[in-house]
Amino acid sequence: MPVPADTTEPTTSGTRPAAPLWVAMYHSVGDCSDDPYRVTVSPGRLDRQLGWLRRRGLRGVSMADLLAARARGGGRDLVGLTFDDGYADFASAALPVLKRWDCGATVFVLPGRLGGTNEWDPLGPRKPLLTADGIRALADTEGLEIASHGLTHVDLTTADDAELGAEVGGSRALLGELTGRDVQGFCYPYGTVDRRAADAVRSAGYRYACAIDPGPLTGPFALPRVHIGENDTSWRLLLKYRLNRLRRRPVPVTGEAP
Ligand SMILES: [Zn+2]
Repeated sequence: MPVPADTTEPTTSGTRPAAPLWVAMYHSVGDCSDDPYRVTVSPGRLDRQLGWLRRRGLRGVSMADLLAARARGGGRDLVGLTFDDGYADFASAALPVLKRWDCGATVFVLPGRLGGTNEWDPLGPRKPLLTADGIRALADTEGLEIASHGLTHVDLTTADDAELGAEVGGSRALLGELTGRDVQGFCYPYGTVDRRAADAVRSAGYRYACAIDPGPLTGPFALPRVHIGENDTSWRLLLKYRLNRLRRRPVPVTGEAP
């Protein structure tokens, strides 16, 4: 049964309040046979998931495009698509699928590990990360946004001040040089965020940051996201979509973080 994308918000003043943001979190796109952290979806599964979105009248876009549309009062049919860690398979496996469904995305990369691997994960296969040239090519691709995941994939809640500054501000400066663009977004490694980390991100000049779970810091500098994995078939996506709408308060997308 088709379900309207957005009809359940209470109306108090003639204009509907902002709906909760729906932001999907992906990592690697490729072979899922050895995937202890469940961070990989196959290209075929991603294809079916994006097709499911499009059939519901929704379209995946970068966080920058999603937040800009929301700030203008629109974007109710847009879903944020985010890919963490900057795996090289984004360019080879995810991008062709995104293009097929006319979707954009944000890629959160690690400029301190250009051309490296996911060494921070003790288990599972080593996966190559994007090189500097690879990141530049994506930054020049219509609909894609390159944003920061820090320098080297450090839990910011345990970093000392110098490390916090380098991971947050240093990565923004490096990515700005690399892409020649203003870097608007940050994504907390492991999704861990505290007030100090969120303040560091805001004062480094970012406009938004992605976390994972909703919490007391939820706002433009700790946007919750929904993990989407290989097991997320259409009915599970529908369930997640509905739960997201029920459980999450609308997030203000302009102004200061709480
Ligand atoms: Zn990560």
